[in-house]
Amino acid sequence: MASLTRRRLLAAAALFPMVPAFAQTRPLTCGELTAAQTEGPFFKTNTPLRASLVDPGSKAARLAVTGRVLSARCTPVANALLDFWHADEDGEYDNRGFRYRGHQFTDSEGRYRLATIVPAEYPGRTRHIHVKVQAPGKRILTTQLYFPGDPGNARDGLYQRDLEMRFIERAEGTFDFVVEA
Ligand code: FE
Repeated sequence: MASLTRRRLLAAAALFPMVPAFAQTRPLTCGELTAAQTEGPFFKTNTPLRASLVDPGSKAARLAVTGRVLSARCTPVANALLDFWHADEDGEYDNRGFRYRGHQFTDSEGRYRLATIVPAEYPGRTRHIHVKVQAPGKRILTTQLYFPGDPGNARDGLYQRDLEMRFIERAEGTFDFVVEA
């Protein structure tokens, strides 16, 4: 139990990043395509269509991830597919069912919103969220999102700073994907 509590505290600490308020007015970062990363060993197909992965009974710290899918010309991509998967609050993936797995589509302005929990780290990896993003009929981008200020980032060979979410509010990270469209 002690280690579980500690994990939760660490998860909560990850949600207090030092992000200046002017980050809100940062211009769009389209132009360059979002970097691709390995899908890792835990991807599963046929995930449920759902924007919320939250199990109402879970006491894990909640996290929202919001943003847009854009083309390299900064055009919002409507109906882009986003398929998210991540570890649970104990650093485990559900490889039998679909806990913390789900896909959704962007709205007419290219926006998405994922409601989930803060995933825990697991051995060898810093905290991260896996995602596949695909504009209709185009190539799939497979990548991972990271948490700014997480102590595990420096120890993870896959971590990339340009794949960090921005946190304007404590429990809401944002990330705009730029994909072939
Ligand atoms: Fe992973």
